[in-house]
Amino acid sequence: MTHTKPLFSTKCAICNTEGNSTELYGANFEPESFNATKFSARRVPDKTHYRIVKCNRCGLVRSDPVVSADVAAGLYHQSSFKYEDEVENLKITYGRYLKKLTKYGQKKESILEIGCGNGFFLEYAKSVGFTHVCGIEPSEDAISKASDYMKQHIICDMLNPGKFESETFDVICFFQLIDHIYDVGLLLNECYRLLKPGGLILCINHNVSALSSHLLGERSPIFDIEHTYLFDEKTLSKVFLANNFKIKEVGTTMNRISLNYLNHLLPLPSHFKTEVSSFLKYTKVAAMSFFLPLGNIYIIAGKPEGAP
Ligand SMILES: [Zn+2]
Repeated sequence: MTHTKPLFSTKCAICNTEGNSTELYGANFEPESFNATKFSARRVPDKTHYRIVKCNRCGLVRSDPVVSADVAAGLYHQSSFKYEDEVENLKITYGRYLKKLTKYGQKKESILEIGCGNGFFLEYAKSVGFTHVCGIEPSEDAISKASDYMKQHIICDMLNPGKFESETFDVICFFQLIDHIYDVGLLLNECYRLLKPGGLILCINHNVSALSSHLLGERSPIFDIEHTYLFDEKTLSKVFLANNFKIKEVGTTMNRISLNYLNHLLPLPSHFKTEVSSFLKYTKVAAMSFFLPLGNIYIIAGKPEGAP
């Protein structure tokens, strides 16, 4: 079922201003763009996007205007979880960055992952010594694919303020999530409240200044109707600083990726992708993996010791 949804103008998540921006690309979506398939994690990119603008003051890239947060929340709730094949590689990628937290004195008592899918990363966190793991995930389908253990530790929802008591977690993680958030300030404020003093955030997301987005321009898969904000190292640091965090580290992410998933991401015609995919599977090299900079960045940010 498709409807034309009303659109609302967005604010810069750093400057908090409406307008004061330069258009990068005009909108190219159709009313039928608003369905749960388009709002499913890691689906095949199809280059459908809102009008994309860049803030004149701070350089943050955002979609403007967009559907309401409630409409998007409904779509995420119905969305499906389809990246099981890549879970082992994602665990290795995210695990490498989780290890970096130890040098900042991170404790291994409690970890929260926002947008945890089927909980594969939290299972990894448990295997490396976290005693209390907790996830939030809006997709019912994703949670239905979680292990029996993880099902007891995932809440089916978005992170709305007040869901947990203050100073509950040592670590909060979110991967490929912040680009999808309608109110980034609200998210980061709530994370700040939930972290114990000295607690850390690990966030990995797309890099709008990556070589791939310069080369592909509007054809880059990051310009996508699911993305409300698109960051680079500078703007990601600024939005964390604006929300009282101290930046520990920011940089380019090296992703562990299989040949088959690389084919899935490349901006090639879909019939060609299907042929390549069957060839890879036939020759049994589809599962071969590499580390590549795939246009992602990471940030490690902390709530200062002794902070209220
Ligand atoms: Zn701005």
